[in-house]
Amino acid sequence: PNFKVDQAKRVPKNIILMIGDGNGLTQISSTVLANNGELSLTQLNSIGFIKTQSADDFTTDSAGAGTAIATGQKTNNRAIGTNKKGATILNLTEILSEKGFYTGVITTDEITGATPSSFYAHRTDRGMVAEIASDLKISKLKLFISQPTKTVKHIEDAGFVMKTDINTIGASVDEKIGAWFNHSNENVTESNVQKLALATKNGISYLNKEKPFFLMVEGAKIDSYGHANDIKGVVTESISFDRAVSEAIKFADEDGNTLVVITADHETGGLTIPQGNVVRHEIEADFTTHDHTGTMVPVFAYGPMSQEFQGVYENNEIFDKLLKVLKISVKK
Ligand SMILES: [Zn+2]
Repeated sequence: PNFKVDQAKRVPKNIILMIGDGNGLTQISSTVLANNGELSLTQLNSIGFIKTQSADDFTTDSAGAGTAIATGQKTNNRAIGTNKKGATILNLTEILSEKGFYTGVITTDEITGATPSSFYAHRTDRGMVAEIASDLKISKLKLFISQPTKTVKHIEDAGFVMKTDINTIGASVDEKIGAWFNHSNENVTESNVQKLALATKNGISYLNKEKPFFLMVEGAKIDSYGHANDIKGVVTESISFDRAVSEAIKFADEDGNTLVVITADHETGGLTIPQGNVVRHEIEADFTTHDHTGTMVPVFAYGPMSQEFQGVYENNEIFDKLLKVLKISVKK
């Protein structure tokens, strides 16, 4: 980052919101210490912490946390874009589309996964996958990139022109586009580690027109490896997420008018790192659970008004802060 417009006191044009699923402070610590002590993320200056508790549980799931961030309201675990009573609540892509923003979602999960769904769907349970997929049809999204889903057909009927090569997305002039990641995450190969960054770079190019844009990027598999108590997978996926962060920061520096906010929905695995060796890139990991934990997770922000994201606050306040810096008011 060149920091030229970081913390500038003016309304940003574009918003890039990045969510590392399960990317808690110890996951970030493991990643930075295994990576010669450096990440793009850890160079940023505007830093805060969010409390992640959902409306009905001390320990949130990705649906409760995703909905809190996307709609500004804490809800029950498993709820997607609906409140505690099951009623639909507006999300950021809907609110910002009304204000002329192009909106997109990129995830290494399936597009019907809990985090991405929270940004376009309204269902009372994350397990309603077919219904969530059908919500894509009436969503405001111009762009999605995700893992292929079992409901592929349903989604390809939702009006998205499907692209077979993520490299070509940036230059597309189609009204609504979608793409599937073709590689599995099973093997640590350079193309796998780089794929979220490639999608982020091309997704930004596609959305970046005269109109402002809002893009949500999720690094989903940090959580999966946390559940599996697999530190190598956690670190690899967290590095992959950081490369996507690098692309967002590079664009923000070129553009000078983009706010990037990077956070996590919750911590996964109760990870501690009692020992390690920075020179040998070694991390000794102890996991205390196969589930999520209730610990606070960091928020990093970069660009105009990034200072708004400093401090300790609730996860749903990210929504409030984003609308505040954009000078948009909505009734909750
Ligand atoms: Zn999880």
